[in-house]
Amino acid sequence: QAHLHQMRGHHDPHPRSPPEPARIPGSGLQLRRRARQSAREQFSSIIQKAESDLRTLLNIPPEYSVLFLQGGATTQFAAIPLNLCKPDDKVDYLVTGSWGDKAFKEAQKFSKPKVIWSGKSEKYTKIPAFEQLEQSPDAKYLHICANETIHGVEFKTYPTPKNGLLIADMSSNFCSKPVDVSKFGIIYAGAQKNVGPSGVTIVIIRKDLIGNAQEITPVMLDFKIHDDNNSLYNTPPCYGIYMCGLVFEDLLEQGGLAGIEKKNKKKAELLYNAIDGSNGFYRCPVEKSVRSLMNVPFTLEKSELEGEFIKEAAKENMVQLKGHRSVGGMRASIYNAMPLAGVEKLVAFMKIFQAKHA
Ligand code: PLP
Repeated sequence: QAHLHQMRGHHDPHPRSPPEPARIPGSGLQLRRRARQSAREQFSSIIQKAESDLRTLLNIPPEYSVLFLQGGATTQFAAIPLNLCKPDDKVDYLVTGSWGDKAFKEAQKFSKPKVIWSGKSEKYTKIPAFEQLEQSPDAKYLHICANETIHGVEFKTYPTPKNGLLIADMSSNFCSKPVDVSKFGIIYAGAQKNVGPSGVTIVIIRKDLIGNAQEITPVMLDFKIHDDNNSLYNTPPCYGIYMCGLVFEDLLEQGGLAGIEKKNKKKAELLYNAIDGSNGFYRCPVEKSVRSLMNVPFTLEKSELEGEFIKEAAKENMVQLKGHRSVGGMRASIYNAMPLAGVEKLVAFMKIFQAKHA
């Protein structure tokens, strides 16, 4: 009690005798319960502020719930069909990269998904024209991966699903630009790219989609359980949510997502221009109209030099430039936290490297 008293700002700087223990009626068990409640209340104010700032950033309409969950976006690959479908329900997946493919494969366990378009045969470098899509008339939803992290393919506009329900994995471009949330049934994202430490997954879901989970759904995957408990059904990832809250405050201070998008466009443009202006020394395989602002994959015409490029860049403290093992080459991830100066440094290095090896 004395400790709590001090923490609340009632600290006496010249105590003459130890403070009298405050008298709170009740058993030890009641006291412990009260102490726990107060920790819960204290954390509630942190999570509520984080949610309210995220609502401001993305202009989230009131008919949507915001959930702070665990298990990464990968867990949502299962949670979404479990919550929205019966086992025989049809759902559509538009597969523009390996994350969309993983989401589709997981959905096979809990629903009847169909790949209505896949970019695999073209090494995931494109997004199809939406009018070409043959959507299933009775699909419960259409799932997309808004930004394919490994392949660097990003939706700039969104398809309209036949039955009005669009679901997007925004793990790698969440909070990188404004998004019209009202176009989506669910937006979900692992926090670790743009908004916080791994361990927090954010789900923005239209409220009328909550409460229909399959009977076999584990409590930790049931959106209703988390919604009813304001994301505090079990011990939440407190530190991660606290960090996300600080990032949301910072993004608001930077002028919100329109301001962030401007900065991200400038960074990406600089890098893509350097690649395209290199006379073929560097190449980006992704079709220009769908190139990601967040993940920029590129290769060297002389692929035997790629190892040296990565080694030399590391000597200048530019690390994590190796492309994903499934695609090779290089990949520069230029998330919100990467300053323009970081991209400028990379581009200067690329020019010097080219002059040495051209
Ligand atoms: N979806 C996308 C687009 C990703 O980039 C990632 C991971 O990097 C995932 C899903 C998987 O996320 P997690 O590792 O949080 O499960």
